[in-house]
Amino acid sequence: MVFCSKCGEELPSNAYFCHTCGVRIRKGVEAGVSAPWMEELKESVYKMGQEIEKAFSIAGMEMEKAFKTAKEKIQESKKKKQLVCKNCEERNPTDAKFCYNCGKDLK
Ligand SMILES: [Zn+2]
Ligand SMILES: [Zn+2]
Repeated sequence: MVFCSKCGEELPSNAYFCHTCGVRIRKGVEAGVSAPWMEELKESVYKMGQEIEKAFSIAGMEMEKAFKTAKEKIQESKKKKQLVCKNCEERNPTDAKFCYNCGKDLK
């Protein structure tokens, strides 16, 4: 005679699972059978893992994009300071027409 280890239900000797509470009994464990809900659980955990991975890769891509934009902005702002006066070598904004240091025409 087999009894359920969880609820104590008397089970047929060929049972793998308890027909009352659904728990897998020792015979089921020994036979290596898994309940459908176990497979479902495994699958949902696997799917969740995939979703998390996807979310992380999207976050990574967004981060990369943000970094790239920030880098471009820094380079842009660097470029803006690159209008050098030929007369005094002072750096002027790119839209400057005359050097703010010596007054020389920058064109
Ligand atoms: Zn049971
Ligand atoms: Zn100048």
